[in-house]
Formats: sequence, structure tokens, C-alpha cells
Amino acid sequence: MSMKRILGLCLALVLLACDNKNDKKTTEKVVDHNVEFEEFKSQFIEELWKGNPIWASYEGFHSYDSILPIPNEVNRQKSLSFAKNMQNKLNQFNERDLSNLNRIDWYMIRDYLMSIEFFENEFKSYEWNPSSYNLGGAFFQVINYRKEPLNKRLKNIQLKLKNVDAYYKAAKANLKNPTKIHTELAIEQLEGSKSIFEKTLIDSLEVAELDEEFKNQFKKSIESAVKSIDDYLLYLKDDLLPKLPEDDDSFRIGKELFEKKFQHQIQSAYSAEEVFKAAVEEKNRLHDQMYRLSDMLWEKYFGEKEKPGVILEQIQMVIDEVSKSHVHRDSFITAIRQQIPELEKFVIDHDLLTLDPNKPLVVRETPEYMRGVAGASISAPGPYDQDAETYYNVTPLNHYSEEEAESYLREYNDYVLQILNIHEAIPGHYTQLVYSNQSPSMIKSILGNGAMIEGWAVYTEKMMLEAGYGGDHLEMGLMYYKWNLRTVCNTILDYGVHVHGFTEEDAMGLLMKEAFQQKSEAVGKWRRARLSQVQLCSYFTGYYEIMQLRDEMREVLGEDFDLKEFHEEFLSYGSAPVKYIRMLMLENAKNKEIKSAA
Ligand code: ZN
Ligand code: ZN
Repeated sequence: MSMKRILGLCLALVLLACDNKNDKKTTEKVVDHNVEFEEFKSQFIEELWKGNPIWASYEGFHSYDSILPIPNEVNRQKSLSFAKNMQNKLNQFNERDLSNLNRIDWYMIRDYLMSIEFFENEFKSYEWNPSSYNLGGAFFQVINYRKEPLNKRLKNIQLKLKNVDAYYKAAKANLKNPTKIHTELAIEQLEGSKSIFEKTLIDSLEVAELDEEFKNQFKKSIESAVKSIDDYLLYLKDDLLPKLPEDDDSFRIGKELFEKKFQHQIQSAYSAEEVFKAAVEEKNRLHDQMYRLSDMLWEKYFGEKEKPGVILEQIQMVIDEVSKSHVHRDSFITAIRQQIPELEKFVIDHDLLTLDPNKPLVVRETPEYMRGVAGASISAPGPYDQDAETYYNVTPLNHYSEEEAESYLREYNDYVLQILNIHEAIPGHYTQLVYSNQSPSMIKSILGNGAMIEGWAVYTEKMMLEAGYGGDHLEMGLMYYKWNLRTVCNTILDYGVHVHGFTEEDAMGLLMKEAFQQKSEAVGKWRRARLSQVQLCSYFTGYYEIMQLRDEMREVLGEDFDLKEFHEEFLSYGSAPVKYIRMLMLENAKNKEIKSAA
């Protein structure tokens, strides 16, 4: 379940901060470092977008839509000197002079700048991942920006197309040791993304009111871009792929790179190895709990029937029975829509969090162009489009065969569906979004920490059940543990594949036998674990750190600990790494305790 990034500091405020520049030099005496820091941040973002126009259009900043940077050595050096230059500017601020929210921004910028060097000089996926050279999305973001008149968008695209040839020549030159699985992915995806050029862009051109000369030029540019993609595809298929061994496992990045990437991307206080070990322990604990519940439920579903005598088999048998309780395929969305107010009521009645009644969540059918990936997701306005609505997208099941629908509905049975809604909506992703919008920071929106965002959603599942959600339904507990096992096993799989050399058999055993997943889900996860690194750890790591933090806060505050206050303070810092939120929360808590003791 993924989530698009969220809104941030309003642009007007950034501009305002810039305008103040001249006034401030004359009133040097009382320096509010926060004002200077706001200036620095807007300059940082401006430079960031100049160097990364594709990323910028994805975030909704469209000033550089006509530019396509070539992935060559010159641009990598530029990116490194951007990092160095900004690091120097950042170091002119002492983070302790800044407000709490700016202090976290300071850390996040520092960490991001350090990661640039790691990715350019050490990780070097541009040498081994052919699928990173896919321009479909970059062009789609430009043509799909409907606030800009169509003619202007097409003119931007015409300019952007000019570099496609040089782009793919550089891509070929970069590739030194491609992995087999990333090469195959590239071939698959590029075939698909060609349709954005040949169909989406041409269709838009046909309906535009532009003169014939422009249209002819544009079509020529498209033809030449498609030819460049075809050349690249041919190079992958005929030159690279045949040279790669059938059992190529160079996709495993190994312990050292995994740890480093984990530090840069997850930004945890723990090492990847520590989190892996915690996940293995958690898996065993979950199995114990599930065994206990399956024992208690046995009679209800199997009567006098003899138990299989194997723990995991017994759990699986009970899960299979409980999963039969699910909504009808036609009422899937209705069921979700009905549950949202019930979740809100529970959160309010149990004093878990303050919810903003002015921001109702809109549940809708996933728009056609977004379908294909997740069954349910939150889609939030980007940082430059903060007034737009937030949607809870649910994909209807009408494209499924009877069999597929049944399998899907058993997965999202009556119990899991409620946990999914907690995770995606209330008090999970959606609630976190509403809170983070109350302390807007463009930095946290652009560099937002995925482990915190996912960790919060996973944490709320547990927290709701602790508060009594689901009543005394043993089935709810069992299904929650099964759902939570997925998160835990994502971490075990990720680390296992890249560091411990898990084979396909190991992965299937873990996911199907120990995490009770369907084969199709397990196959997809094994593929994802080989194509990505570290990201699958984000859910459990964030969750684990939030649970640890809650224990620490309980310890520091003793009787003064209040769950609602804990949640609201935690969310007030925005989508920042948990370790920085922890630092500030513990500081605050200790100050509070000193004050109340005095
Ligand atoms: Zn999620
Ligand atoms: Zn059924």
C-alpha cells in the first residue's frame, strides 16, 4: 500500500521570505535564524528542481518541463557539486538556533545531500539497472499537467524530445554490469512506455490547435525518439541479455551496500541487521499468538475434527475457514465507504486522536489510468497543489473472473478489510496526512520519510486493536496477526535476499508457509525483493521504532503519559524520520518532567 507525497509550505510564503532579503541586512541586530533558514530552503528547492526537472514535474513543479538532462558524467559531477555547495550553505546554520520543525528540516537536508554522494559514487545503479532509463513517466507528467494550456505543454515536450537520442546514447555508455532481472524489466517496461510517445502524445497533438509545420516537426521528433528507444531496446535484447548467465544473481547488493542504503533511505536509529533480527523474533512471537488463537477457534470451525499436529498447518486451516467470511464482489466499495465513519467514531469515542471534521475523506473508484497496481491506496495532492482533494482509491472487482474475485475477497475478508481501512484511512495514512498538512514543510513533503509514513499506518493497526477495536472477535486478532506478518516478512525477505542469499525456495517457504500468503502474492513479492532493495524494510522499521519510542515515552513520563498526546505530538512533526521525532519528543518530555518536579 503506497501513498503519494503530500503538501508542504505554501509557495507564497517561500516567495515572501525571499522578498525580505534586502530588509534584513539593515536590521542585522536581532537575527531570527529561522527567517534566513526559510530563504536557504527555498533556494535549495529551486536548485534541486533545476538539476532534477523530472522529479520536479512528478512533485507538481513544472517550470523545467522542457528540459531533459542527459545521464552522463558531466551531470553526475554537477549533482555532486550541488551537494557540496549546499552542504556548505547548510553548515552556516547551527541547527540548535532553529525552531523544532526547521531543525528537522536541517537534518533531512543534510541527510539527503550525503545520500547524493553515496548513490553517485558507491551505489551506482546507473551502471547496472537498465530499467532506470525509462522516459515514459517523465513525458506523461508533462502532458498530464492540465493547468498548463495544451499548446504550451506540447511546446515543452517538443523541446524535451530533442535530448532523447543523447539520453539513450549515455544510457548505453553507462551500463557496465547490468543484472539479468533489471534488464528483463527494462525490456518489458520500455515496450509499454513507447505507447506514451506513439499514442498519448500524438493523440494530444491531433486535438491541439497548432499549425501544420509545428505538428509535422513534432511528429518527426516523436519518430526519432521512438527510434532511439528501439535502438536501446535492441542493444539490451541482442547485445547485453545473451551475455548474462541464466542464474545471474548480481541483483543481490550484499551486506555493506545494504546497510549503507538502509541508513540513507530509511534513516533509522538502528542498523539493517538489528531490524532484521527484531523481525525474526517478531515472526516467532506472532506465530505463538496465532497458534493460541487457532486453538481457541478450532472447535467453532472444525468441531470434533482432529488437529493436524503441526503448528503452521493448524493456523493455515483456521485462516482458510475464517477467510470465507467476506463481502460480495459488488459491494466491495460500499463496504469500505460504510466503514470510514465507524472508524472515525471509534477513534473519537476512545480518545485516541483529534480528527479534523472539516476534512472528510472521499472514497472513490480508482481512475482507469491508475489501475493495475494496488487494490486500495490514498492519493493526496502534491506539495504544489494543496487545495486538491484527497482520495481513497478502491479498485472495483469487475475486471476479475469469478475465481480471481473469490481469491481476492478471501484475502480482503471481513476482518482484513477493516485493518486495511485503518491502515489506509483512519487513523492511518489519511489521518497522518491531515496532521502533516497542519505543519507544512516543503522539505518534509519532498524528502518525506517513507519508513515514518508506513510505520505510522502499521502502528495504528496495532493501536486500534489494543484499544479494543473488533471487540472480542478472536478472528479479528488472528487476521490482524496474519496481516502484520506480511510487514514482518517483507523485512526478513528483503534482508534475506540481499544479504543472506535467500533462494526462490527459501522465499516461497517464508511467504507461503510461514506468512500464509497465496502463491500469486508470494511470486510477486519474490520478484519485487530482487528488483528493489531496502524499501520493503520501511514498514516494519518505522513500526518498530514507533513502538520503541512509545515505551521510552511511557518510561520518561510515567503517570503523565497520555496516549492521545503521544499520537498528536508524534504527528505534529510531519513526515520526518522517527529518530528525529524521537529526539525532540524525548527532549520535550524530559523538560516537562523537570518542570513538574521543580
Ligand atoms: Zn501504507
Ligand atoms: Zn467466498
